[in-house]
Amino acid sequence: LKNINKTYKKGKELVPVLTDMNLDIQLGDFVALMGPSGSGKTTLLNLLGGLDSPTSGELRIAGQRIDQFSAGQLTRWRAQNVGFIFQFYNLMPVLTAEKNVELPLLLTNLSSKERKAHVAAALDLVGLSGRAKHYPRELSGGQEQRVAIARALVSDPNLLLCDEPTGDLDRATADEILALMQELNQVQQKTIVMVTHDPRAADHARRTLHLDKGQLLQE
Ligand code: ATP
Repeated sequence: LKNINKTYKKGKELVPVLTDMNLDIQLGDFVALMGPSGSGKTTLLNLLGGLDSPTSGELRIAGQRIDQFSAGQLTRWRAQNVGFIFQFYNLMPVLTAEKNVELPLLLTNLSSKERKAHVAAALDLVGLSGRAKHYPRELSGGQEQRVAIARALVSDPNLLLCDEPTGDLDRATADEILALMQELNQVQQKTIVMVTHDPRAADHARRTLHLDKGQLLQE
């Protein structure tokens, strides 16, 4: 990110949310992004994932100026390169774990057999092979989050963006999910940016960044 600014319009007023932000994230990094409520963490994550565009500045990911992409280019880029993980899992209650994980692949040209293989591999990565046929209501919170992580992994993206992935979990389960994220970074070489309020995330991440009022504080 180079001189990134993001403002929102509130009536006639322009509200600055991110101010003159400069940030380098290396391939293979695992960044924990912390800061008070309203400091701009989710906004930054949305820019990194191409869900929103900066008001000004340069946003380059793997050599591509994604701030200059059209909406269609962004959608394609996102589907191939980014996996999103949210606090409340966002699983479809009427679909089994494996059908939830398969969802992103329905937009690709993969055959049903290929999709099955990718789904099985993703569920295996998160340790849930034995729960493929379960519905979300038959899973614990930690298992539901693992299904959501498998869904984020199934298209084999390089970049994982997580918005408080442990926010709805008890302490022990949160630790398991943080350990899984660390493993995905170290073993699968996923680049991870994780918004979190959990101070223990710093033990798992490679870097911890603090945001305050739309600006990065010292690392
Ligand atoms: P939290 O920890 O509470 O989730 P955050 O650090 O993720 O907070 P953001 O969600 O990025 O903060 O919001 C930063 C600021 O931008 C807030 O003041 C919020 O009200 C404002 N904001 C976010 N999205 C919009 C929007 N779509 N339109 C207008 N203002 C917005």
